[in-house]
Amino acid sequence: MTPRTNDTIEISERSGTAFRLSKGDRLIVIDPRGEQVADLLAFNAEDLDEVISSGRTLDYAETIYLTAGHKLYSNRSNVLLTIEEDTVGRHDFLLTPCSTATFDHFYPTLPRHRGCFGNLAAALEPYGIAPDRIPVAFNCFMNVPVDGETGKLRVLPPISKAGDRIVFRAERDLVIGLTACSAPDSNGGTFKPIHYRIEPAG
Ligand SMILES: [Zn+2]
Repeated sequence: MTPRTNDTIEISERSGTAFRLSKGDRLIVIDPRGEQVADLLAFNAEDLDEVISSGRTLDYAETIYLTAGHKLYSNRSNVLLTIEEDTVGRHDFLLTPCSTATFDHFYPTLPRHRGCFGNLAAALEPYGIAPDRIPVAFNCFMNVPVDGETGKLRVLPPISKAGDRIVFRAERDLVIGLTACSAPDSNGGTFKPIHYRIEPAG
């Protein structure tokens, strides 16, 4: 289940996966074709009630735009992941994973899809993580500019180009959920795969 090599693994379009990371491992998330979002979740592998927290992280970072050097905190204010490298500089940590309800709300004329939420729920189920425990995900490459005066937000195509990447270091043993996002607007209207690679610690 847990890849322990430096091989690049593909998450096919509109799907998701889950795997363990050990403390010190690096996770490299790659947008192989450009303009494709990947939702990322991280749970403390020793206590699954501890999970990444958008609210904690944005509060401590004092910005909604996270990049290299920023840390992703848990609901208990512990650091779960550190962003070590980032070739894009625009990601989102405001919006929840897309779901069937997202499609009903924004895309009522399109076929429903279980979206990142359904893909994450299915991938995390073997780890004993129930759907209601899924929080706001760190949305790699998602481009959500916010008007500083009005607070109006927009979901625009990612600015990521083919081969762009973001690199995370695990600060403790984690269960990770990761998707290739399924929502049209988040991904410039087309669905592409996501690649990832794990560089084991030491
Ligand atoms: Zn999505």
